Amino acid sequence: TFRALTIVDEEGKPKAGFQTLSLSDLPDHDVLVEVAFSTLNYKDGLAITGKGRIARRLPMVAGIDLAGTVRESRSDAWKPGDKVIVNGWGLSETEWGGYARFARVKPEWLVRLPDAFTAEQAMAIGTAGYTAALCVNALEDWGTIEPGSGEVLVTGAAGGVGSTAVSLLAAKGYRVTASTGRAETRDYLSSLGASALVDRASLSEKSGPLQKERWSGAVDSVGSTTLANLLAQTVYGGAVAACGLAGGADLPGTVLPHILRSVALLGVDSVMAPQAKRERAWALLAAHLDRKHLAAIARMEPLSALPQLAQDIVAGKIRGRVVIDVSQ
Ligand code: NAP
Repeated sequence: TFRALTIVDEEGKPKAGFQTLSLSDLPDHDVLVEVAFSTLNYKDGLAITGKGRIARRLPMVAGIDLAGTVRESRSDAWKPGDKVIVNGWGLSETEWGGYARFARVKPEWLVRLPDAFTAEQAMAIGTAGYTAALCVNALEDWGTIEPGSGEVLVTGAAGGVGSTAVSLLAAKGYRVTASTGRAETRDYLSSLGASALVDRASLSEKSGPLQKERWSGAVDSVGSTTLANLLAQTVYGGAVAACGLAGGADLPGTVLPHILRSVALLGVDSVMAPQAKRERAWALLAAHLDRKHLAAIARMEPLSALPQLAQDIVAGKIRGRVVIDVSQ
């Protein structure tokens, strides 16, 4: 038997807690993975605290990410001993996730653990970091953004997506401005490569539809008025890769930046992203993510700490990334 963080139905409401499971409790998917590490993302915080309706089937093993080793496989694509990761694909929503020692998953959800990373490092990256890489690829694919083309803004910079985006962009040679609400993270963000900081309050006030052009591109994990302002401050032909809603799911802006400045709003989803995009994102991380930065971004916590960590992440109090040791 093994311990899992599960979400169960308690009088019509989702309630998180710990449960002891055995292999026969797991869903009947083709690949059995022994999970080494999982991780904490904003969405995991929403799922565990119940602040967001993430789990759509109960009981649910939470955890949108996992890294581990294949133990059994009925698929030709994977064999026992293969080192693998899963990010998204409905884990913790409709499929049991990574907050347990074992998981049974579909073969097509698995990505081979890149040789460049240990399982622990892959979870220090996790969905948040892999999404940061999807955002960087989306910006570069847009065609006008390259190192030297101007300043790139990262919002929610001290969070998981933000920290990884700052590090990746700086490593690629971009001039990165980090937006944070936590002045005490200044040294941390500078050490990851941010060359300037802005107070997030300066971006969250409603302002004009076309503002002074400042950013050649941006990675936004905040949404709402912040995203509307970013679009209004993006240079002619620039783009914003939007992946998050830490500040709200609304978007109170106008079409003017798009139709008068050809500014693009690039939507980025990690959950159902096709394999080819995932592989490109992991390749970008393998090539450009500074391992010392990764060590500075991440810390390790036991499974048992998740209820408190979930409260902390939805309150915006987690710096960087948290790896979860599922054996503890
Ligand atoms: P995180 O570690 O909690 O980072 C979020 C950061 O946003 C916080 O650290 C904080 O940064 C800032 N923030 C928090 N509350 C805010 C508020 N009310 N107003 C403005 N800024 C606020 O979370 P994460 O795991 O990196 O995820 C970030 C966002 O991306 C979440 O909304 C998540 O759901 C989304 N996401 C989406 C995808 C996708 O597939 N589209 C994938 C991964 C993540 P500062 O303290 O530096 O200001």
